[in-house]
Amino acid sequence: MSHDLNVGRVLLVGAGPGPVDLMTMRAVRAVEGAQALLYDALTSEDAIALAPPGCIRIQTGKRSGRASMKQETINRLMLRLARRGLRVVRLKGGDPSVFGRVGEESEFLKGHGVPIEVVPGVTAACAAAAQFHFPLTHRGQARRVVFTTARLEAGALAGDWSAAADPETTMAIYMGGEVVAELGRRMIAAGRCPTTPALAVEQAGGADARLYRGTLETLPARLAEAGRGPVLIIIGEVAARADPQRWIDEVSVQAAGLRA
Ligand code: SAH
Repeated sequence: MSHDLNVGRVLLVGAGPGPVDLMTMRAVRAVEGAQALLYDALTSEDAIALAPPGCIRIQTGKRSGRASMKQETINRLMLRLARRGLRVVRLKGGDPSVFGRVGEESEFLKGHGVPIEVVPGVTAACAAAAQFHFPLTHRGQARRVVFTTARLEAGALAGDWSAAADPETTMAIYMGGEVVAELGRRMIAAGRCPTTPALAVEQAGGADARLYRGTLETLPARLAEAGRGPVLIIIGEVAARADPQRWIDEVSVQAAGLRA
């Protein structure tokens, strides 16, 4: 496909789970060089603050009760800004390729002749695992990780949950915080042992992260105390290895110092 040289490019950038020191350097540079920034609800204030003065900033996701923009509107907006010749950054929480609609956005833009670049980010499951010291794979315990989402359709979880039956599969469940009880029931029905370790991490990656631990059966009750932050659920033997101590290590402290 031939690209119009007057068209700006769009960078689809992963902001990671929140703290800027968990962004890649490429992501930081992209935001620092943005002329237009479209950001999701899950991107942190600190990441948005990296954009230079004069950068057009557009919030596309739900925040403080406002409605999210429709995907079609976001696509059109990116296209319009790119056609003005601007360097557009589409900033997303975590990694853009994990429940980040990167496929739809990149196909739309490419279809309109706009060059794109994707910058990866630390996805919530990896941030949670790092912060609370549990592995996603572990020799003899977990040889497969399934990144999935939990969506109710007519009161039941949509999709095929047969992979969940394998005792050596770690299930990393996005957008499942509100349906955790149904999730547990569904996985048990699929053949997973009810006493399988399970955990949830709210606001993974940040200093205010919270860990909830239990089993497939007991996690829903534990999670009842959760706040309003994003919640990632992990089900599998590896969940028993989580260390409840909140982890803010030297590296983050130093990086925060560098940022100031
Ligand atoms: N692209 C993102 C996922 C977007 S879908 C990523 O790679 O992480 C949104 C869901 O991701 C939330 O409902 C939650 O399940 C999970 N999530 C995103 N950020 C999170 C965080 N900091 N802590 C816990 N869960 C998070």
